[in-house]
Amino acid sequence: MAYDFDLYVIGAGSGGVRAARFAAGFGAKVAVAESRYLGGTCVNVGCVPKKLLVYGAHFAEDFEQSQGFGWTPGEAKFDWATLIANKDREINRLNGIYRNLLVNSGVTLHEGHAKIVDPHQVEINGERYTAKNILIATGGWPQIPEVPGHEHAISSNQAFFLKELPKRVLVVGGGYIAVEFAGIFHGLGAETTLLYRGELFLRGFDGAVRKHLHEELTKRGMNLQFNADIERIDKQSDGSLKVSLKDGRELEADCVFYATGRRPMLDNLGLENTGVKLDKKGFVEVDEQYQTAEPSILALGDVIGRVQLTPVALAEGMAVARRLFKPEQYRPVDYKMIPTAVFSLPNIGTVGFTEEEAREAGHDVVIFESRFRPMKLTLTECQERTLMKLVVDAKTDKVLGCHMVGPDAGEIVQGLAIALKAGATKRDFDETIGVHPTAAEEFVTMRTPVAG
Ligand code: FAD
Ligand code: NDP
Repeated sequence: MAYDFDLYVIGAGSGGVRAARFAAGFGAKVAVAESRYLGGTCVNVGCVPKKLLVYGAHFAEDFEQSQGFGWTPGEAKFDWATLIANKDREINRLNGIYRNLLVNSGVTLHEGHAKIVDPHQVEINGERYTAKNILIATGGWPQIPEVPGHEHAISSNQAFFLKELPKRVLVVGGGYIAVEFAGIFHGLGAETTLLYRGELFLRGFDGAVRKHLHEELTKRGMNLQFNADIERIDKQSDGSLKVSLKDGRELEADCVFYATGRRPMLDNLGLENTGVKLDKKGFVEVDEQYQTAEPSILALGDVIGRVQLTPVALAEGMAVARRLFKPEQYRPVDYKMIPTAVFSLPNIGTVGFTEEEAREAGHDVVIFESRFRPMKLTLTECQERTLMKLVVDAKTDKVLGCHMVGPDAGEIVQGLAIALKAGATKRDFDETIGVHPTAAEEFVTMRTPVAG
């Protein structure tokens, strides 16, 4: 049978665009549907605008610290509307770049909501198109627990477009988004409380990293409330929000921001017209080659719920394009040693096993840790400290994990990820000459293991 397209991609986000462009580059006839914004979550309401806001928030401490270096800055004033307008302009520019990337690579772009009508057919804007393969790359969506009054709360989707900076913000959650946005709001001058239901935020990160960030955020005056959960939210006559906690306490805020995870975006996608199966958490189930239970339909990125990071969606997009149209170049995505950063203030950068994971996996570990005051702060009043940690296998000497909390941790960990992927040992680290004077050199000069 002749199909309209070899591949019909639903979703022009990180993974969808990558798969579509490369498939077209390999000679396939490709269409991509996008209902909302070109570039998807990362470009519009994720990584990119978030990082711009983090940069914005960072200036507060730069102004303060500059005084130690002899500067007398004028009275610093912050205007949220300017930051948001400039951010929007940059995102519009990126949307245009994504459009050009797709069109120039020969991909047909359909703007509208796509629905799968049968395993080889998609409907969009009243038209139907057939395809040999359909790729679900529809991403995720913020998930807010249905506590009474949750309609008064916002998610990251709205946070990027607030008309003004709220005076008092309550951020709920203890994952990436909660920690990053609490840092943004706090840095920009809002009275910020972070509320997390467990003992300590950032579950899954190394214990020392979690504790260190807790200490640093406390030093900065952020209000951290752990073992706390919301029972209800009530809007008061003056527009503010009364937040009642399960432990009976009441808090007041002008904005309640839930960052409590993301669900797969499957709304009105027509999966009922296919044999696609979902896993226990509701994400699309795929095999190791991204094929769903319906042979002609594949899925990747956040919608499969493996690792919800842009570079992972990109790698999966590339793998799918190769698998379908350039099988001789196909290589499976390696999910080990994925580096990641939390763009909190200060940053976390991490790659490989946490100490807890390494021990759980049966490794006999040697731990190296260094805590120090970054050189840039020595002429300032700021008491912030950096943490660096190496988790090493005692038997093989292999470095199993590198963790950092401190300025530019995200930048530093990228290079370390290459070393770990190549199987570097602690001896390789020791024999590497440092770059002086940097914070990063500490990773190659840690000589004495932590006792115990
Ligand atoms: P998406 O990028 O979400 O793209 C899916 C696209 O499909 C969307 O454009 C959507 O509109 C479209 N779509 C959905 N349904 C349909 C339909 N039926 N028809 C047509 N189109 C449809 N990751 C990092 O690596 N680093 C970061 O710093 C980072 N920061 C983040 C910050 C925030 C606030 C958030 C929310 C996420 C962040 N992420 C970050 C995660 C990253 O954004 C995602 O992992 C990545 O965007 C997933 O890509 P994707 O292609 O799977 O989906
Ligand atoms: P995460 O899964 O990282 O964190 C969700 C948080 O919400 C956890 O602390 C979780 O607690 C808590 N939570 C979940 N359900 C509830 C509930 N019902 N009530 C109270 N708390 C709850 O999700 P995020 O929304 O922060 O981010 C989504 C994903 O996006 C991330 O996992 C990451 O993959 C990606 N991302 C990446 C970034 C980066 O690379 N820098 C930045 C932002 C997002 P508990 O731990 O107890 O389950």
